[in-house]
Amino acid sequence: MSKFSAYNFKDIKALVRVDFNVPLNDQFEITDDTRMTATLPTLKKILSDGGSVILMSHLGRPKEGSIDKYSLRHLVNHLQSLLGNTKVDFANDCIGQEAIDKSSNLQSGEVLLLENLRFYKEEEKGDRIFAEKLSKLGDVYVNDAFGTAHRAHASTSIIADYFSPDKKMFGLLMEAEVISAEKVLHAAEKPFTAIIGGAKVSDKILIIENLLNRATDIIIGGGMAYTFWKAQGKQIGNSLCEDDRLHLALEILAKAKQLGVNIHLPMDSTIADKFAADAQTTNCESYGIPSGWMGLDIGKKAIADFREVILKSKTILWNGPMGVFEMEKFQEGTKSIALAVAEATANGAFSLVGGGDSVAAVNKFHLADKVSYVSTGGGAMLEYFEGKELPGIAAVKKG
Ligand code: AMP
Repeated sequence: MSKFSAYNFKDIKALVRVDFNVPLNDQFEITDDTRMTATLPTLKKILSDGGSVILMSHLGRPKEGSIDKYSLRHLVNHLQSLLGNTKVDFANDCIGQEAIDKSSNLQSGEVLLLENLRFYKEEEKGDRIFAEKLSKLGDVYVNDAFGTAHRAHASTSIIADYFSPDKKMFGLLMEAEVISAEKVLHAAEKPFTAIIGGAKVSDKILIIENLLNRATDIIIGGGMAYTFWKAQGKQIGNSLCEDDRLHLALEILAKAKQLGVNIHLPMDSTIADKFAADAQTTNCESYGIPSGWMGLDIGKKAIADFREVILKSKTILWNGPMGVFEMEKFQEGTKSIALAVAEATANGAFSLVGGGDSVAAVNKFHLADKVSYVSTGGGAMLEYFEGKELPGIAAVKKG
């Protein structure tokens, strides 16, 4: 694989896989362009070298063929405004004659956006013929779509087989994601604390199991903490619980003990009489919640305990909120933990925040620039920390 920053793109047509899967409203206006702006440094480097860019992306989950609602045409004007003086053209199909003609006529400094890859079922199937057709559109392949790196799709993985090692590389966004993730998983300075929250134990089981072999401390917050309390025979009232995972929770606690990993559960909770923004609330021990009440956030004692662990950490990985932070009454835990992570980072720790809801949380509390790295790939990041090899990374690295 080549190193993107050292590559000279002059007169080169770069076929770039991006993740432009942005949310659109009913008028097809982009409501959050983070995924587009995140890849701008990659595009600008290619263009300023004197190369041209052919962009491939998916948008939404179109079921059958092309549907206007999922057309990447809706993104052209905004992409044009983000790139300033650059000419941005659009091909109504990602393969076929129009795509071939427009890409071969592309001049240096110009951008061509191809129509939604997922209008072809071959994309998600990882079809080799489809991947080969796409590969013919550019001279080099740049993967800048970390968000889809866990998929072995035609454009994210299979396509890389049609480029020689010196003609494939990660874009700057992908490279930064891979470097941060590898640093945490393979070169974490100890103490290494993983903060895992969110609703379901079942979603996070694999990541916890993998981290048991790497972290010194694992903080478990959010709805999933109550399954761990109930597994130990405690009263959790009407809190979220996965009864079919009680044995797994016990296994994790036992394995942690055996490996010398400290598991931290919230000792107290903010409890509510209903799952609602206007619920009545009070504080109580997480292992003795009365029936009719549910834990919707970690409590003050838990915040203090978790803060202490976080502040003595040198490496921090955070995935999943500590409570129902979308509602004001239950945001304190997540906000305090975000502040503690920011403080630890200011003191020299390396912190990586990833996964949809924890990213939303650091953004909500304006702390995104106070942590070391905010990952853009929710599912991809989770799978990476579960210990899986991501096809999008492996395909580019492969000789
Ligand atoms: P996840 O996608 O698994 O990371 O879960 C994120 C969701 O978990 C957020 O929407 C939170 O509102 C929710 N959540 C966090 N804590 C709790 C809790 N104690 N009870 C119910 N839901 C929770």
